[in-house]
Amino acid sequence: MGHPVLRARAKAIDPSDIKSATIQQLIEDMFQTMQEYNGVGLAAPQVHHSLRLFVAGFPPRPGDEDEDEDEEEDTNVPLMAIINPEITVIGEDVVEDWEGCLSIPDIRGRVARAREIDVKAYDHRGRRITLRARGFTARVIQHETDHLDGVLFFDRMKSFETLTYLDEFGRYWNTRDRDVREE
Ligand SMILES: [Zn+2]
Repeated sequence: MGHPVLRARAKAIDPSDIKSATIQQLIEDMFQTMQEYNGVGLAAPQVHHSLRLFVAGFPPRPGDEDEDEDEEEDTNVPLMAIINPEITVIGEDVVEDWEGCLSIPDIRGRVARAREIDVKAYDHRGRRITLRARGFTARVIQHETDHLDGVLFFDRMKSFETLTYLDEFGRYWNTRDRDVREE
C-alpha cells in the first residue's frame, strides 16, 4: 500500500498478446507469488504491473470433491487466471464478510460484496469466457477486479470499526477455525 500503481486504473491487455511469452511468464510468476504468500488472489498491480489481469484460487486438495460444500460459502475457489474482467452483479443479495489483502498485510476488515456475479473475461489462453460465481469465489473476484481499478478493500468498508490485526482476528473473530487468506 502506498505504491501509486495500486491506485491507478490498470490497462486492458490486447487479447492477441495473451499468448505472448511476456504475459504467460507474468501469469506463471503471479501464481507462484500468490502461493508463496498463501494468498487466494493476486492482481497484476500488486506486483507493479498496471495490467488488467489477476490470478486466484486454491490448488485442489485430495478429497475436495467429496466435501459437502455449503453453497452460500463456496470456499473452494478454483484456480483461474482472468484477463480484462467485466463483472455483472446477479440479484440484489449482499453479504458482509472478512477480507484481507496481500498489499495490506496482517489486517482484516469486513466488506460487503454482491453474493452472486457473472464475469466476462479472457482466460490464460486468450479464450473468451463467461463464468458465474457466488459466495467466497464471487468475493475474491470482486476484490481482485477492484485492484484493476485502483480500489482497495478499505474503500469498500462501510465503517472502519471492524478493522482488525491478524492476531486479534485469530483471537476474537475467526469463528470458522481457518485463516482468511489475503487477496
Ligand atoms: Zn488485495
